[in-house]
Amino acid sequence: MSRLVVVSNRVALPGASQNGGLATALDAALQETGGLWFGWSGKVARAHSGDMHRQDADGIEYLTVDLSREDYEGYYNGFSNRTLWPLLHFRLDLVDYNALTQAAYRGVNALFAEKLSKELRDDDIVWVQDYHLFPLAQELRKRGVGARIGFFLHVPFPSADIVAGLPHHEKTFGALSSYDLVGFQTERDLERFQDYIRLFRGGQVAGQGDLRDHDGRRFTAAAFPISIDAGVIESLAETAARSATTKRMQASLNGRALAIGVDRLDYSKGLPERFRAIQRFFERHTDQRGKLTYLQIAPVSRGGVASYRTLRRELEQYAGHINGAHAEPDWTPLRYVNRTYPHPALTGFYRLSRMALVTPLRDGMNLVAKEYVAAQDAEDPGALVLSIFAGAARELDGALLVNPFDSDGVADAIAAAMTMPLEARRERWQSMITRIREYDIHAWRKDFLSRLAATRR
Ligand code: ADP
Repeated sequence: MSRLVVVSNRVALPGASQNGGLATALDAALQETGGLWFGWSGKVARAHSGDMHRQDADGIEYLTVDLSREDYEGYYNGFSNRTLWPLLHFRLDLVDYNALTQAAYRGVNALFAEKLSKELRDDDIVWVQDYHLFPLAQELRKRGVGARIGFFLHVPFPSADIVAGLPHHEKTFGALSSYDLVGFQTERDLERFQDYIRLFRGGQVAGQGDLRDHDGRRFTAAAFPISIDAGVIESLAETAARSATTKRMQASLNGRALAIGVDRLDYSKGLPERFRAIQRFFERHTDQRGKLTYLQIAPVSRGGVASYRTLRRELEQYAGHINGAHAEPDWTPLRYVNRTYPHPALTGFYRLSRMALVTPLRDGMNLVAKEYVAAQDAEDPGALVLSIFAGAARELDGALLVNPFDSDGVADAIAAAMTMPLEARRERWQSMITRIREYDIHAWRKDFLSRLAATRR
């Protein structure tokens, strides 16, 4: 069996606390074949980039590289988070393009390739994760690497015209044809990528996900909808139902229903639009007004980027405004918390909630939607209000699908979730949990890796 090599910006080093299914799944994959995990060390070095750290645990080798402050700023805060992130989430208006950060991004990818190429054998299978590393395969190929290399994009791939708005877009996105397999979250993302290859790269799309770049280079692209470790979330939620944290939370509701939202504080999550929908719910459905409390958990993210700081201020003001307008002396309609919670606590909150509001303006998948469904009590499951612009909407047909820009429509979906009969909630939940159990995070990684193993240049 070939050795697996995973490459990601952040490496989940052994012993560090982990809150996600992805790290666990990649770890499990690496353990099966005895593998290597390569990426940034998480350290910003004072002098120069390139110092390496090697560590072994459970048959996995971890190899990480330090970056200088300047490289980190340009590659990570700069091109990755100020340029690519908004672009990939359809926000050309927020794209901050800068030739210097683009060069730093390229440079860090070249540095990673330089270090990694020395470790690779031709029979390895290399799996590169996410938008920080688009050019990595191209840089590895330049250095003679012949191994199979796959790429998975954890965020959306936008419409071709948006992609083309990035100056020198071909330098970043044209590099994808150096991979053997490029994976997207949904068929829609895949179609938009194929459009880009046809319309802006002069390439061709054959059947079966087979693509040809303008220079004749052949590669494959396909959709692999990422998921969660459903079994783990289900059992955490069951235990959490009896925990002191959950009980205290329940007692604080005084018999009112709870709606929950759990999102990194990011403009792609549609939080101001969601607050507006909550406000419209209180205004439009006065009979249900005092019967619902909304809990928004939103840990601060990327505080070094100005658009995130602006969003944070906006939400603080909005939360205050809504509570000021609608609260009673003994009832706070909106609870707003900028904290992360470990999954045992979070799954308890999910299970307690009558509904979850997952209304991003754009999201590659949205794992919170799947976690919420997996955490429900089969006897009395809550409802999921889900944006049509989340990748998860393609799979979770039992959700109440909404357009996040339509605040009245979202308000009405909240009201529908409040009054939905038990039978209907069970039926909707059943169809969603069946899908989530069938294609969990382990099915996802096996699907991707077997497809990658089957490609040959
Ligand atoms: P994104 O990757 O854009 O942050 P996802 O919904 O796909 O969005 O994944 C978010 C992950 O982070 C989920 O596993 C979720 O449980 C976790 N998460 C989000 N908010 C919190 C929080 N406040 N505390 C702990 N975990 C969180």
